[in-house]
Amino acid sequence: MNKNSPKPVVADTTFVQPNGRLLINGKWLEGDAEFPVSNPATGEVFASVSSAGEREALLALDAAEAAKEGWRNVAPRQRAELMHRLYDLMLTRQEDFARVMTLESGKPLTEARAEFKLSCDFLRWFAEQTAHLHGSYAPASNGGFRIMVAKQPIGPCLLITPWNFPLLMIVRKGGAALAAGCTMVVKSAQETPLTCALFAELVQEAGFPDGVMNLIHTTNSASVSTPLMNDKRIRKVSFTGSTRVGGLLMELAAKNITKCSLELGGDGPFVVLDDADIDLAVEQAVICKFRNAGQACVAANRIIVDKKVEKEFTEKFLKEVEALTVGDGMTSVDVGPMISARQRDRLGDTIRSLEAAGGTVVTGGAAVEGPGYFFQPTVIRFDAPNEVMCSNELFAPVATIFPVENAAEALAFANKSDFGLASYVFTKDVSRALTFGERLEFGMVGINRGIMADAAAPFGGTKASGIGREGGQEGIYEFMEDKYIALTVNEAQGVA
Ligand code: NAD
Repeated sequence: MNKNSPKPVVADTTFVQPNGRLLINGKWLEGDAEFPVSNPATGEVFASVSSAGEREALLALDAAEAAKEGWRNVAPRQRAELMHRLYDLMLTRQEDFARVMTLESGKPLTEARAEFKLSCDFLRWFAEQTAHLHGSYAPASNGGFRIMVAKQPIGPCLLITPWNFPLLMIVRKGGAALAAGCTMVVKSAQETPLTCALFAELVQEAGFPDGVMNLIHTTNSASVSTPLMNDKRIRKVSFTGSTRVGGLLMELAAKNITKCSLELGGDGPFVVLDDADIDLAVEQAVICKFRNAGQACVAANRIIVDKKVEKEFTEKFLKEVEALTVGDGMTSVDVGPMISARQRDRLGDTIRSLEAAGGTVVTGGAAVEGPGYFFQPTVIRFDAPNEVMCSNELFAPVATIFPVENAAEALAFANKSDFGLASYVFTKDVSRALTFGERLEFGMVGINRGIMADAAAPFGGTKASGIGREGGQEGIYEFMEDKYIALTVNEAQGVA
């Protein structure tokens, strides 16, 4: 299906099915029940996986605890070599990963391949860092002793991943945890268990010790996360998903003072100033908004454009948006389906509420006939900044545009949000770029670019967008604790 062509395109949906069971202590075990995995482009069930409950979750934690000492004591170089082996194995499976990701998440194959490449970059980068995780040594401030700080693995971790970047999220968390020397229980997203399963198969094939990585799937997340978070052996939770669930996990973490990394929702302001390269801003806005059908926490949520260039920007942007093809990601399209009928259906109400607040739908605005959960790429224009879109994450192929009087108004409106994940500014002026870079109250600022992800960069947010960073050395240290060792030094004796 393609909105510019009435001819149905038949997708090739063959794929290599990963193991659908639960990986616990190096064995693939059945859960008590099974649940179906369906393709959001067709609504059809194409696989089934085991569902874990409390029993399996705690068995997975038993395994992570049992493997803890062995794994933290493996020499860093040896850990790195295992990770490089995993990276090499992954490179041989690009198409298997891409097809599984497209089938279960709906994203177009080209995007699945891009996610695969980025995930491999992360894994290689973490592998390279493994032997470079240093502590420090300094004289005490009173000079009487020495301060040594060692970086040590924090212990067994719970990693909970979302469906929108099913491979990148497990690699970004799991790769960092492996580099740090931690063992883990991974809980996949119910919609996309197979991508995680394929990754876990390769972890096993690469030769990581049993119990280092354990993988569970479930239809009832709370039934596994609550007992795991209540168990003192879990020392760290790393979660990517909604702010609501992040808050629930933080409440659970309070009980045992468990360290949290939370990558939550976003409300990405995308600011185009009057001196911007408009063609570049349009190109980047289309990618930043419509990649993954807008289902990205770093997506451009509010496009804020100086009045002097708004007409040119909007005309060019509309032309690009109207040329986007929508359809089954297994065929050659720009925009795939939304993850579920529920996510698609909520958009009717969302659009009506934006119209009631003064927005005008200038293109799109409706679901595309199924099967599958498609929605037209949509642009809604407001005449001025409007608070209806502040802290209102659309998570959909729906762009909103707001003309502003000047740079000051742009900055003030951009910062009007409870979220603080990604933000963007387009300008040719270095002073403006730096001023926005410093004053945007977000964890990340893209200057003249709409995509920022990189293995060496600390990805993460402020305020309701979360706590902690993924990627960069910061991302590995999230899985480590500082151990301070105070050493008495008798200098006279040292030279006696
Ligand atoms: P979600 O919070 O419902 O689900 C995310 C994960 O949490 C899934 O694995 C889900 O099964 C699990 N989960 C759900 N309820 C749980 C519970 N009670 N206990 C433990 N785990 C539970 O989020 P979603 O709606 O699937 O994903 C969209 C949200 O995630 C958006 O708000 C988006 O911005 C955010 N997100 C953030 C990032 C980031 O890096 N900051 C990346 C991707 C998505």
